[in-house]
Amino acid sequence: MCRVTAPSSRERRAGDACPGVSRPFVAADGSIVRLRPAGRTVPVDALSRLMDVVAVQPDPAIQLTSRGALQLRGLPDPLTPRIREAIRATGLVPSASHELVRNVVASPLSGLDGAGHCDLRPVTRALDTALCADPVLAHLGGRFLFVLDDGRGDVVGESFDLGVFATGPGRCVVLVGGTDRGWEVPLAAAVPRLVALAQEFVERAGGDESVWHVSELAMPLGTEPTAGLDLPPPPERPRGAVGDHAVVAVPLGLLRPDHVATLARVTDRVLVTPWRSLVVENAAPALPELEAAGLVTHVDSPWTRLHACAGLPGCARSALDTRALARDLAPVLPRGHLPVHVSGCERRCGTPATAYVDVLTPRSTEEALSTIAEQESPWT
Ligand code: SF4
Repeated sequence: MCRVTAPSSRERRAGDACPGVSRPFVAADGSIVRLRPAGRTVPVDALSRLMDVVAVQPDPAIQLTSRGALQLRGLPDPLTPRIREAIRATGLVPSASHELVRNVVASPLSGLDGAGHCDLRPVTRALDTALCADPVLAHLGGRFLFVLDDGRGDVVGESFDLGVFATGPGRCVVLVGGTDRGWEVPLAAAVPRLVALAQEFVERAGGDESVWHVSELAMPLGTEPTAGLDLPPPPERPRGAVGDHAVVAVPLGLLRPDHVATLARVTDRVLVTPWRSLVVENAAPALPELEAAGLVTHVDSPWTRLHACAGLPGCARSALDTRALARDLAPVLPRGHLPVHVSGCERRCGTPATAYVDVLTPRSTEEALSTIAEQESPWT
């Protein structure tokens, strides 16, 4: 079993390089651009426009990230003005100054399925608006994460910097990352409190770009916490029908043209979860159509637990084509409890926040299966 830790702030020689339209990251296969929905729904028309941007590639796809963001790769370096404009025309970059800091993960089914203590969608929108309105908060790092959990415990387990955990209708605890303690406030006061804490973080970091997270400050953020939480275990991640709605996983987190074309026939908006899946409102009757397009509608599909980093040919550090190996692995993957992550090098990009099976640079499908059996045996 593997547990990977991020480099400490002392080990970092430069600021973060999380990509955006204003700051693409250049990989072996070209520029990478990330678009952040900030926990809000994404128009399917915007997905279609993004797909047009990568349509000339041999294997066009929009990648879903573990923070519910959308990523394009293999773009020209430097980005052409036409591509920049095409991406901005999707409406997914509402603030040029704040595009890199709109890192918000919220309970994806909040307000849709009756679980959780409240509908956090208005809070999610208010947080995004408040973030973008504050010039100070443009100085948060691209790795600084806000989570908003409606009380069901599905996203509070993410590795976050500032969070909200709903404790009842209209009540919540505002949390600082790395602790289960915070401050109980009315839900209506959650966004102002998050903004104040984020401002304090920016001030205390003092422009040091090697400080990425609240846990790296010399002194704890905020006043002495006044509320403790007994956080619930994370619930099962749903697939298929949830009431009238559909939740579909996207194999390897790669949204392909046929997926988007099918989505466009059944809905006009989707919500991207941090688990490489989509919530499609009022689309339960369309599940057979979504499944026929290659989206995953059953919890027992191997694609609900099989993941891979970018690997070759996109990443020059990789020892193998990780996704090809994962595709070979899918039909023979035994049932198991843990996510399985195939990595092309020791960086292990995109690994789950939870315990997982670490398949590092396997030389063959057989070797990967052997690693999986070995690492899962203590859990069975
Ligand atoms: S884990 Fe290594 S090989 Fe895979 S994408 Fe990250 S850097 Fe590249």
